[in-house]
Amino acid sequence: MKQFRYWFILGGLFMGAIFQVVGCAVETPEEVDDGAGDVSGDLDREQAADRSALHLGRACGVQALPKHEFDRIEQEFNKVKIVRPQHAFTTPTTIPVYFHVINNGSGIANGNIPDSQITAQMDVLNAAFASAGLGFQLIQIDRTTNATWYTMAPLSEEETAAKSALHKGGPDTLNIYTANLGDDLGGWATYPSYYDSDTPWFDGVVILYSSVPGGTASPYHLGDTATHEVGHWLGLYHTFEGACDPSPTGGDGVADTPAERGPAFGCLTTRDSCPTIAGLDPVTNFMDYSDNACANNFTGGQVSRMQAMWDTYRLPPPCAHDKCSTGTPLAASSTCGSVVQQICSVDPYCCDTEWDDICVNEVFSVGNSVVCSTGTCSHGLCVTGSVLTPGCDPNGVVNSICSDDPYCCNTWWDGLCVSEIGSIAGKNCN
Ligand SMILES: [Zn+2]
Repeated sequence: MKQFRYWFILGGLFMGAIFQVVGCAVETPEEVDDGAGDVSGDLDREQAADRSALHLGRACGVQALPKHEFDRIEQEFNKVKIVRPQHAFTTPTTIPVYFHVINNGSGIANGNIPDSQITAQMDVLNAAFASAGLGFQLIQIDRTTNATWYTMAPLSEEETAAKSALHKGGPDTLNIYTANLGDDLGGWATYPSYYDSDTPWFDGVVILYSSVPGGTASPYHLGDTATHEVGHWLGLYHTFEGACDPSPTGGDGVADTPAERGPAFGCLTTRDSCPTIAGLDPVTNFMDYSDNACANNFTGGQVSRMQAMWDTYRLPPPCAHDKCSTGTPLAASSTCGSVVQQICSVDPYCCDTEWDDICVNEVFSVGNSVVCSTGTCSHGLCVTGSVLTPGCDPNGVVNSICSDDPYCCNTWWDGLCVSEIGSIAGKNCN
């Protein structure tokens, strides 16, 4: 299975891409057929990928998936998807970032980019993902001089060696590697569902060192190559995934990104490469190939997808704490406001989720015994239940549980919710 999915990412190499973009190097709608009725979904997707190789510009190494693999990912995602209410992201979820600078010696010309460019890159990421309630915190920069790693390609021995030596953290930790990528690539990334605890080092984002803000990879020198790759890391496809797929969610699994036949370069804001499908091409979207100066948005649908991807595949197991349903946030009163800040800095878990017994206890230890909450747990809880299998929904099981015990539908399914399936609904669904 591992080899299977590696293959798809390796397939993303656009060997024919040429670095420098000059003018409008994109095909017009008239120059391509719309693929309607003459190809299978698989072929249409593969053709879209092939087309991208004809264009000029730094390419991304994440490949358009064959339809059967796309469908497999989407079906699995829809089956296990966790969707928290939107307000769960009003306080940004902070993603720890390890930045690995792979260079060929000293100086920017050898890829040894300065801290100032890395800080600027972090600022670009934080601005780009703010609308998604996702923030990035630089934890550490490390620098490695290695001539062979420096020119690594996707799925190469060099990538394996570099990543397995340098990678830090788990699925919720973003590892960014900079190097002088071969094959005219701007970067590549791994999808959330491909995270494998047996090979955690595989997870992460690789970008061209000169694509960071102030770099020389114009017109991809403003830091949005990283934005694009982190978008993949959070589960987004290219906006041109699936080409002119007429389905409601288009070829990229997102309903509000109009279908697009292939990547756009430059800033062709009036391009309409799927004229029989509503909407102009989303060329200003971060998940297209337009110039950095042109790319400026994720859509609401992409934001929802990234949040659900985060919760489903990357969020640490909520049961790291013995969570309580009645803890709620501490009162931000004059007495407790500073205590809340102290707790959050010591234990971000408490501020990223419901306050629980451990958080409350930390008020006493961190906040010098200030009493800010008296909540007690009504559930004994754990999260291993995740969500019910869809097979139970037609029988109204979820609705009956939710109406009887809203806790189960306002938060994670836990042991109590699962047991209620039996007592309330008389079913065994988990
Ligand atoms: Zn990409």
